[in-house]
Amino acid sequence: MDKGLYYVYVGNIPGHPGNNTYCPKCKEIIIGRIGYSITKYDLIDGNCGQCNFKIAGVWD
Ligand SMILES: [Zn+2]
Repeated sequence: MDKGLYYVYVGNIPGHPGNNTYCPKCKEIIIGRIGYSITKYDLIDGNCGQCNFKIAGVWD
């Protein structure tokens, strides 16, 4: 449960234009979303594509 709290889904904030997921280490956008569209996907084998930080979780 604790690990899940790393990941902040800004889509839960009313009025925010995006729904991005950020790497908790380097703060880069690893999954960018606008509505239902994926605008960026920067995960490699479950790791951040920028700093290689292990991103735990289930990604669809
Ligand atoms: Zn990173």
